[in-house]
Amino acid sequence: METKIYLDEGNIPRNWYNILPDLPKPLPPPVDPKTREPVKPEALMALFARELVRQEVSGERWIPIPEEIRERYALWRPTPMYRAFRLERALKTPARIYYKYEGVSPPGSHKPNTAVAQAYFNMKEGISRLTTETGAGQWGSALAFGCMLFGLKSTIYMVKVSYYQKPYRKVLMELWGGEVYPSPSEKTNFGREFLKKNPETPGSLGIAISEAIEDAVTHEDAKYSLGSVLNHVLMHQTVIGLEAKEQLKMVDDYPDYIIGCIGGGSSFSGLFWPFYYDVVTKKAPKEVKFRAVEATAAPSVTKGVYMYDHGDTARMTPLLKMHTLGHDFVPDPIHAGGLRYHGMAPTLCLLASENKVETIAYNQVEVFKAAHLFAKSEGHISAPEPAHAIKAVIDEALRCKETGEEKTILFLLCGHGHFDMKAYEDYLAGKLPPYEYPEERVKQSIEKLRALYPWITKM
Ligand SMILES: *Cc1c(COP(=O)(O)O)cnc(C)c1O
Repeated sequence: METKIYLDEGNIPRNWYNILPDLPKPLPPPVDPKTREPVKPEALMALFARELVRQEVSGERWIPIPEEIRERYALWRPTPMYRAFRLERALKTPARIYYKYEGVSPPGSHKPNTAVAQAYFNMKEGISRLTTETGAGQWGSALAFGCMLFGLKSTIYMVKVSYYQKPYRKVLMELWGGEVYPSPSEKTNFGREFLKKNPETPGSLGIAISEAIEDAVTHEDAKYSLGSVLNHVLMHQTVIGLEAKEQLKMVDDYPDYIIGCIGGGSSFSGLFWPFYYDVVTKKAPKEVKFRAVEATAAPSVTKGVYMYDHGDTARMTPLLKMHTLGHDFVPDPIHAGGLRYHGMAPTLCLLASENKVETIAYNQVEVFKAAHLFAKSEGHISAPEPAHAIKAVIDEALRCKETGEEKTILFLLCGHGHFDMKAYEDYLAGKLPPYEYPEERVKQSIEKLRALYPWITKM
């Protein structure tokens, strides 16, 4: 009856798992809206390191993890897995609940799994600085950390309203050597122009992406870096699932349900892809259900449309085939900043549209209530994003209680909530609104997208 299931350093995976060759259909490629043709990988190399673009389109199932990266991973990997005995008892469920915990990394989430890898491959190609955007600061702090480990500089455009409201993640980025600017900033043409017209703007992720891209393409020594959505980013996260499989082996168990939250889809993919590999290669000892959980305030897959759309508001990125709420989506201010995105990883969307992955959405009131029960039973304070997964786990465990099924549930606690006390304070004070994004606004955004590109529906 072990509560913690540990692996030692020698068990840090030696390869990442790439799902592309195992998808039920070929992944629709990114498309240039001007030519309506697939974007050539070479074109992406203006933005990203060559090796990362190679990984993005690779058909290889296993991609070796360089020793230099495994050595950095050893600062916090392998991460622990826990059996949630106390939560099981609180729920009086016959289900066995396990969680893999990524909150032990220095930035406090799964995001350094890819930040460290991206910094390494850029360093190898002679790049000396990475640029990126960040909303609440999870991704920015992970990238600053990753760059520090390989002697790179980092420039982070942080959405202005978060820069002033959430100063502590900014301090974290600065401690690790990151240069942080409130976006829109005076650093870029796009930022200066935008500020001239809208001096009082709170900023947005779309604007910050545009600034980070401009900075990278106008400086020889710099490249751009993304924290979710793209294939190579999700692949770097598979160290999570590969370790989890070994850990469950140690207690002779295998999941019936694998549950995680989805904002761009990287952490959940990192957990479930290695188990999906078992399913497609017929190695899985039983049927496994993959369940992705989103916020009702940003219900990309549950309420969005599966079609080509831009990844950013300013329409600077290629078109990606994904479930989208429309690129002009403006989210309600829910506390789960990592889930406030209009799109989703194209691989996850393909799997959802083929019914290989189930999706469900919860509002933040029920989600924080679940995180509160989790804190009272397991002790760990969940980040607001994986609290969505906790809600889904509790619901499934309660269903098992009704039917008496002894199912095994595995979920990802992808980050701690130590920087999110304002959210918990609002929850305790009963001040959280249960936001639901209206269907009508999705319709309007999709109509606008179709008017902009009348040919898009057929793609
Ligand atoms: C960024 C973030 C997310 C959302 O991104 P995914 O790519 O879906 O994982 C979720 N949880 C935490 C803690 C995050 O930092």
